[in-house]
Amino acid sequence: MNPTQNRRALITGANRGIGFAIAQGLIAKGYEVIITSRSLAKAQQSAQKLQSKVIPIELDVSDERSINQALETLRLQIDRLDVLINNAGVYPDEGVNILTISRELLDLTINANTFGPIRMVQAFLPLLEKSPDARVINLSSGYGAIEDLSADVPSYCLSKLALNGATIMLAQALQAKNIVINAVCPGWVRTDMGGASAPRSPEQGADTAIWLATEAPRNISGKFLRDRKIISF
Ligand code: NDP
Repeated sequence: MNPTQNRRALITGANRGIGFAIAQGLIAKGYEVIITSRSLAKAQQSAQKLQSKVIPIELDVSDERSINQALETLRLQIDRLDVLINNAGVYPDEGVNILTISRELLDLTINANTFGPIRMVQAFLPLLEKSPDARVINLSSGYGAIEDLSADVPSYCLSKLALNGATIMLAQALQAKNIVINAVCPGWVRTDMGGASAPRSPEQGADTAIWLATEAPRNISGKFLRDRKIISF
């Protein structure tokens, strides 16, 4: 029997970009995929494009009510989650730096990019605990690595630095529950966020996350990876 048969993954922000490519990759490996998007219509459109067994769900990771509603809706349809991919993210730092950025913009970015993934793990923990091989992947960025922090990309860098920290802390807390969690830098990827000049395709950007979700050794947890290799935080 195919070991990936009947496995189920939830991806945030999967209506476009790297999240959509991760969905395609997991479907190709036989996974059932829950496509979540801030807009139900966009989640449904993506589900149609994938022409496979996909559950489209509305989910805004910055909004507690939306997370709770998504969980409630899903609980009627599923009793177990094997993979959670915290992919949704924003990069709103154009034209500001660490000396000029507003509290509102800091709030917005850290809420989506850092607190969103933490709350998703908390909310979906009971479903992840039902899996014999549960894995969580946080889409981070090289901009979150200590040596690559940039004063000109203030809220994004801080949010991914803190997401990397949360990955370490969550790995500690999830170890006793036998759930592994890692952070990934996808490289610079041609998406709405990465822009047209980026060297990597969304499929290339999705590769390490898909590997971690499916076949990476389970003794890798609390780490930061790029191109299937552990890198420095
Ligand atoms: P895109 O901008 O192409 O897509 C971002 C996705 O996140 C969209 O689906 C968007 O939804 C969704 N999203 C944003 N905010 C929320 C929210 N509050 N709740 C739910 N969904 C939300 O980005 P990429 O595909 O390029 O990026 C995916 C991840 O990879 C991000 O975490 C990003 O930081 C990371 N990354 C990307 C790099 C790149 O070069 N592209 C480099 C390093 C890291 P909507 O359509 O509704 O806006």
